[in-house]
Amino acid sequence: MRVKFWGVRGSIPTPGRLTEKYGGNTACVEIREKKNRVILDGGTGIRELGLTLVKEMPSETALLFSHTHWDHIQGLPFFQPFFTKGCTFRVFAPSILKTRVEAILTQQMEQNVFPVPFAALSSKILFESLPEEGLQYGDLHISFFELNHPGKAFGYRISNGEETVVYATDNEIHRAKHKKAFKRTIKAVRGADFFIADAQYSSEEYLRNRVGWGHSTYEEAMAAAREAGVKKLALFHHDPMSDDITLGKRERSLRKKYRDISLFFARDGMAVDVASH
Ligand SMILES: [Zn+2]
Ligand SMILES: [Zn+2]
Repeated sequence: MRVKFWGVRGSIPTPGRLTEKYGGNTACVEIREKKNRVILDGGTGIRELGLTLVKEMPSETALLFSHTHWDHIQGLPFFQPFFTKGCTFRVFAPSILKTRVEAILTQQMEQNVFPVPFAALSSKILFESLPEEGLQYGDLHISFFELNHPGKAFGYRISNGEETVVYATDNEIHRAKHKKAFKRTIKAVRGADFFIADAQYSSEEYLRNRVGWGHSTYEEAMAAAREAGVKKLALFHHDPMSDDITLGKRERSLRKKYRDISLFFARDGMAVDVASH
């Protein structure tokens, strides 16, 4: 499986010189396994992904959303494949989220905020329920689990039978303050080869005034990854206030501190080949 990060920033895009190394696009990750393609979230990173996708026509893509907060949907009105005949999208979502995604995608293209209505898109977009037990999509098995986030969000476990990737962003876990969520996450992530985890804050930032905001710290993401036996960890959903210098320093110090796990801060444009262990 190949994972590509198209957007790694949380909350709001952060273009400019201070963030050019890690990137300023909001959440969007692509997973490819042979002919199967899955896109996770539609933050601003999805615009650039769309430019490559329209070159591969006709195409079918599975689309999964963690939830419908702006930073996870705001790139979609500028996602060229949506406007292109021959592109098919299958949106798989737990039933509560399915209704929400359908409504929000239409709302964010209403005339007062966007010139082209959702109903006028030329691609085929199908909304399908993702059952509790998950489903088989080509060579990939996709299942979901609940995250700890205001308004509810979902994580996804995607496996080709040999390698497993878990995507869990917008998830507040903490060994002392959110024990249940921490345990639930470990259970869902257990044995994964690659874990993409919400890690928006340092512990100091979190404890200062961000408890209950729905995001985790580097340390808690690390602790969950270790307990779940994960070998490779991508810290994701970087805070808009964290510039390249800050992230670089923190990444270096975490890598020095935790040598038993391969960890890195995700960057826009970065591709990772997932190997089983
Ligand atoms: Zn977010
Ligand atoms: Zn959110």
